[in-house]
This record gives sequence, structure tokens and C-alpha cells, in this order.
Amino acid sequence: MDMMKKVPVREQDPAVRAANFEEVCLGYNKEEAQAEALRCLQCPKPLCVQGCPVSINIPGFIAKIKEDDIPGAYAVIGESSTLPAVCGRVCPQETQCEGRCVRGIRGEAVSIGKLERYVADTARVMGVRPEGAKEKRSQNVAVIGSGPAGLACASDLAKLGYGVTIFEALHKAGGVLSYGIPEFRLPKEKVVDREIENVKSLGVVIETNVIIGKSVTIDELMEKEGFDAVFIGSGAGLPKFMHIPGEQALGVFSANEYLTRSNLMHAYEKGSRTPIYRAKKAVVVGGGNVAMDAARTARRLGAEVHIVYRRGEEELPARREEVGHAKEEGIIFDLLNNPVEILTDENGWVNGVKCIRMELGEPDASGRRSPVAVPGSEFVIDCDCVIMSLGTSPNPLISSTTKGLDVTKRGGLVTNEENEMTTREGVFAGGDAVTGAATVILAMGAGRKAARGIDEYLRKRNA
Ligand code: FAD
Ligand code: SF4
Ligand code: SF4
Repeated sequence: MDMMKKVPVREQDPAVRAANFEEVCLGYNKEEAQAEALRCLQCPKPLCVQGCPVSINIPGFIAKIKEDDIPGAYAVIGESSTLPAVCGRVCPQETQCEGRCVRGIRGEAVSIGKLERYVADTARVMGVRPEGAKEKRSQNVAVIGSGPAGLACASDLAKLGYGVTIFEALHKAGGVLSYGIPEFRLPKEKVVDREIENVKSLGVVIETNVIIGKSVTIDELMEKEGFDAVFIGSGAGLPKFMHIPGEQALGVFSANEYLTRSNLMHAYEKGSRTPIYRAKKAVVVGGGNVAMDAARTARRLGAEVHIVYRRGEEELPARREEVGHAKEEGIIFDLLNNPVEILTDENGWVNGVKCIRMELGEPDASGRRSPVAVPGSEFVIDCDCVIMSLGTSPNPLISSTTKGLDVTKRGGLVTNEENEMTTREGVFAGGDAVTGAATVILAMGAGRKAARGIDEYLRKRNA
């Protein structure tokens, strides 16, 4: 075995998987996981832990894999994370834990994400479940939204003994894990539903089809419904558009709508009653994880797919693994191009995207080189579908229907960094609703931090 390289992970063949929605990565088996665990040097000052936003004791759980003590490994991860099966699959490891692993200096980093996923998946098969509260507390907390932030906050509060009810606007819990990230990257029944069951097993009640701000307001929850504190984990689900001519045409979708139809409403399944447009040639605009997911979904639905992104390959914000998988599945990357107009036929249906070529200029405030249009370089990509994947922002519904909630210019809720309390006493927030679109692990970490803040607040209030 070459100790400089990761133990390769088994994957579905690209030619086969480009036509199905089953999980692409098949994960490690016991022998593979143990061989990969042996590559960990058990560093006394592990840099990988510094790279993980929730500081999982990585050498600690890997040592337990070496001993084949999976419940032990699961317990070590559980000290810092409530969603290991999810994060092991979707974290941008190359810029976080694995990006700091010393093995990566001369060879390949330890495959921390795949090992974390192995522990979580094996623990599920073994029936390992999180431990519930030892004593009950009399106060109740309302959690708005059932994405990673809400689920993490709710489960930590339930473990502390509080009565917790999650209110979810959609008919199914999970947030982006259910409606955004496709089945081929994050299986719903095996992983997401299981995480939700774990949260429910702690006594958390999940009420779906309740839109806070329409069905009931936060003020009513606190003043009339007997909740002592509220956590807002409502995410950032409002899609952004380019505001270019033709964007209202038939055949133009936001990635959110397109993915929700496919993931949550199962439009891709034979016999599904949810309509979805099966394009011949689709253009996906954007370069993040959402763009990759939309592109790979359109590919599986039979389209030739082009990704149009205004910067270059280096600047693609998506996880490296997703970019690699997308290329293997035949997605065409038209980089350093920017759409300027969507062209339509006489029936108002998309029939092309006019783009202009870009060059990279000086670095902007984010440190990335800014794209600059090359005059006179316009060209047209013929297509019958355009999927806009330009990012999302928090929906203003909750902030506009609740007294005393301040928001930033970008629409994120203002919170106190210490405990995640908003500008309204007793109301806390975390995840994409505060930061704007970010990552699962950051949302989960914020949910846990807010749970600690809520516990402290309620204990002080009761003292
Ligand atoms: P969400 O997951 O958005 O959950 C918010 C929940 O609140 C939703 O269920 C919503 O319906 C509900 N809600 C909203 N308003 C109300 C209301 N008024 N009343 C009641 N309920 C409400 N991150 C990664 O780390 N890796 C990836 O590979 C990755 N890929 C992604 C792919 C896609 C397609 C998308 C969209 C995002 C991806 N992300 C990824 C980002 C990540 O999923 C989010 O950062 C994360 O889910 C945010 O969690 P959250 O709990 O804050 O919000
Ligand atoms: Fe790495 Fe994410 Fe796991 Fe942390 S939670 S160790 S960043 S995969
Ligand atoms: Fe193991 Fe790499 Fe972390 Fe060192 S930095 S403890 S080798 S995973």
C-alpha cells in the first residue's frame, strides 16, 4: 500500500450514474477504512482539528476506527457534531480538515470525510442512537426551520431536557438537506431521514406546513403559545437573478425551484405527478455547489449541460470532488464567460444565451481576481433551458413580521457573537439566516452555539 496516497473510494461508473439518481460515492468498507485510518499519524498537535469549523477530535475518532470500536468513534465525533453522516459527505474537506492535514504536505491528506461517513453509516447499521436527556426542564423552545441549524439546535436543547418544537414551512423536514442537495450526493432515506428520526427520538416535535410569519408569528409564539425562547434557523432560500433581458422567458428556472421539484417532489421518478422540464440542452449559470447539483440533475434528466461561469477553474467555489464528478459525467464547462441576454423564440421560449467572454483582472475585496468583459467578444450558446444558480439570500418574511429584529444590508439577522441572541431578547438565530448562503457544518455549529446561549439565558431567567 502506498502510504502517500488515499485509499481509493469505490464509486458508481460515470457512464452508468449519469443516467440514475443513486449515490455516486459508495464509501469505504471495513478493510478500506482501517487501511486509511492507518495513514493517520496521530499528530500531537493535529492541524486537521484546527481546519474543522466545529473542532472534531479527528485523531481521536480515527484511533477508534483502528481499534474497530465504531460506537466509540461515533461518540468522539458526537462531542462536536450532530450530523456526521451528512458532513462526511458534503463538507468542503479540501479547504477545511483535509486542507490542513500534514499528510497533504508531501502526499495526499488523510481521507477524513470518508472516514467520518464510514463511522456514521456503520453506527446506523449497528443501531447506535444519541442519548436523551437525563432530567426534564419546564421551559419550551420553538425552533424555526428544520435544516442543519434547526436540527442541531433542537437536538442539543432536547438533550438538556427542554421541550422543543420545530416549525417547518415545507411538508418535509431537513431544509436544504431534503430539498436542495440531490439524492445522488446525499441519500434521503438512508441518511437525512435517519438524522431526523434521531432528533425526534430525543422527544423533539416537528410540525411541518407551518410558515412562521404567515401561519403564526414569533410574537404570538412567545406571548400566546407559551414558548420561553425561539431559535430562527430559516436559512437563505430566496434565489438571486441577474436582471438581464429575457430572464422572464419560459424555460428559465432558479436552481432552487429546479432542485426542489426533483429532490423534494421526486419529479425525476417514473410516475411522479410533479412536472419538471426535461431539456435537450441546458445552460446552468454559476460555479458553486448549487450549480453543480443543478447541472448534474439536468444531465440525469437527459440534457446536454453547459456550465457558464464568469471566472476560471481555480475560482470555482464548488467542492473539488463535485467539479470532478460533474466533468466525468460529461458536463461541459464554459468558463470565463458571462451571460448578457437570454434569447427567445416567437412563443417566448428560451432558445439561446448570449454570453460575453471575460478576463481576470485585479483581485477584488474577497481576494479573488475580478472578471472583466472583453469588448466585442459576444457569442451565443443554443439551448432550450437556463438554470440560474447565482446564490440566495435570507427571506425577509420573519424579520418583517417580528418586533425588534435587526437585519444587515444583505438581509441576514443580526446576532450577538457570544451566544447568537438577536436584537430581540429571547430570540436567537443561526445558520444561513444569519450568514447568508454558507455550509452545512457552519449552520450546524451555529445551531449548537445558540443552544448553549438559550440554555444559559433560560437558566439565568429562572434563577
Ligand atoms: P436550511 O437548510 O436552508 O433550512 C432552513 C429551513 O427553514 C428550510 O427547511 C425552510 O423551509 C425553513 N423555513 C424558512 N422560512 C421559514 C418560515 N418562515 N417558517 C418555517 N420554516 C421556514 N453546504 C455544504 O456544506 N456542502 C455542500 O455540498 C452544499 N451543497 C449545497 C447544494 C445546494 C443545492 C444548496 C441549496 C446548498 C448547499 N450547501 C452545501 C449549503 C448548505 O446546505 C446550507 O448552508 C445549509 O443547509 C444551511 O442550513 P440552515 O439550517 O441554516 O438552513
Ligand atoms: Fe472535516 Fe467537516 Fe468532519 Fe469537520 S465536520 S472533520 S470539516 S468533514
Ligand atoms: Fe491524522 Fe492528518 Fe490530523 Fe495528523 S493532521 S492527526 S495525520 S488526520
